[in-house]
Amino acid sequence: MAPPKVYKNFIDGEWVESVSGRTFENINPANRHDLIGIFQKSNQQDIDNAVAAATQAFKSWRLTPPPRRGEILWRAARLLVERKELFAEGMTREMGKILDETRGDVQEAIDMTFYMAGEGRRMFGQTTTSELPNKFCMAVRSPIGICSLITPWNFPMAIPSWKVMPALVCGNAVVMKPATDTPLSMYNLVKTLEDAGVPRGVVNYVTGGGGEVGNRLMTHEDVKVVSFTGSTDVGRKVSEACSHNFKHCCLEMGGKNCILVMDDANLDLAVDGALWGGFGTSGQRCTAASRVTVHKAVYKEFVDRFVERARSLKVGDGLDPTVQMGPVINESQLKTVEEYVEIGKHEGAKLLTGGERLSGGEYECGWFHVPTIFGDCDPRMRVAQEEIFGPVVSVIPCDSLEQAIEINNGVVYGLSSSIYTRNVNRAFQAMRDFDTGIVYVNAPTIGAETHLPFGGTKQTGNGHREAAVTALDFYSEWKTLYVDYSDRLQRAQIDT
Ligand code: NAD
Repeated sequence: MAPPKVYKNFIDGEWVESVSGRTFENINPANRHDLIGIFQKSNQQDIDNAVAAATQAFKSWRLTPPPRRGEILWRAARLLVERKELFAEGMTREMGKILDETRGDVQEAIDMTFYMAGEGRRMFGQTTTSELPNKFCMAVRSPIGICSLITPWNFPMAIPSWKVMPALVCGNAVVMKPATDTPLSMYNLVKTLEDAGVPRGVVNYVTGGGGEVGNRLMTHEDVKVVSFTGSTDVGRKVSEACSHNFKHCCLEMGGKNCILVMDDANLDLAVDGALWGGFGTSGQRCTAASRVTVHKAVYKEFVDRFVERARSLKVGDGLDPTVQMGPVINESQLKTVEEYVEIGKHEGAKLLTGGERLSGGEYECGWFHVPTIFGDCDPRMRVAQEEIFGPVVSVIPCDSLEQAIEINNGVVYGLSSSIYTRNVNRAFQAMRDFDTGIVYVNAPTIGAETHLPFGGTKQTGNGHREAAVTALDFYSEWKTLYVDYSDRLQRAQIDT
């Protein structure tokens, strides 16, 4: 058998080993004997080298006209299209989700790259009038500097693309760090940017642990911007670290998203939505529908159908095209899921299906869990409040739309929510009163598109939005320009 490929860091336009001399293994969660590659276990010195390279490269990249930057992104998008199938397969191997979903993940990166390529020729600013004669006013976007991009494992190419593409088109240089479970997909993205002609040092890629590498990325004094997607616990640390020297900081964190099924809902549609929202990516999406609140008038019928469909889901290796749900990411995540199943049982939630890991046969070497549904949940139970990040859905009965909205809003997170109803008044009331950053009507809590703002409220985010034109607000600094061509001193607010 051929030895596993050794992947290196990308610093200053060169593929280099970590100065630490250490490496780690990237393995397949569906089969831990499948070694995908060896990656660099980097240290602080690697980050310092990457930041130094980015600092140098920023000097000319910030002056490169945005349409030229956009053309490089355009070439990268075209290459991603050509490489889509290869990258999707690699992603399924390294993080487990089924091929349909990893194709979607790569497609999201393609969409974001084309979208931001187009921003190279827009990047609109503002012009407006002046209160004084012979004076011109405008505001333009300026690049900020070096951006640290820290990403999770569940969307290993899409999420890095949400960060790197707007950062680049705005004229920043970046240092990127993937989660240790999924370094291959970010490697593929960075290699594609290199092949598309990004100048040396503008994009740097350093692999390694959150503690050592991640910590340096958010504390390095030359880093001006930190964009983080991951858990709320780590996000809080990032926020604190950035506050000392006022780094710009964008946090996209956990979720406990809810689907509401009203008594007038199309139940077939609602069951489809709950199944996809709850068990897509094995429930490991920040937008996963891990709660379903159902009106008591249709509760029994909905739950019976939902349970039946969940039982019929085929679990296995995501590379098998007949499989509908893959493994969870690692042993530690599987243990977390098992712990929450026990918590749910002790809290008195009714285990309707699942509740155990899969072992033996094709499951022996991977981290698989049966799709699990708890019924009759009280909204205050931990299984209905805390992010589990696995294939576990808590179903909560309710009496009215008002109560359902209260349940939806009664968690610390605020990412995504959804309502199934055929009543337009109810739909609009939910759109107005749900306190999440994203709301779906007659669709599950997942399905974001790249040209619309993405992000959450409360402990999911810190007020920024990724994707869409809103991403430019984070990766650029507004610079307001006043040009006085009156040839005399004019005093705003005084010379009226
Ligand atoms: P995580 O917080 O454990 O890790 C995220 C990243 O932070 C990884 O690259 C990790 O190496 C790094 N990191 C860990 N400790 C660090 C530290 N002390 N300093 C700096 N960096 C550190 O999250 P995860 O397990 O990779 O991902 C799952 C979480 O991500 C879930 O909570 C999920 O909801 C969230 N998520 C949120 C969104 C969103 O857009 N809101 C999207 C996807 C995932």
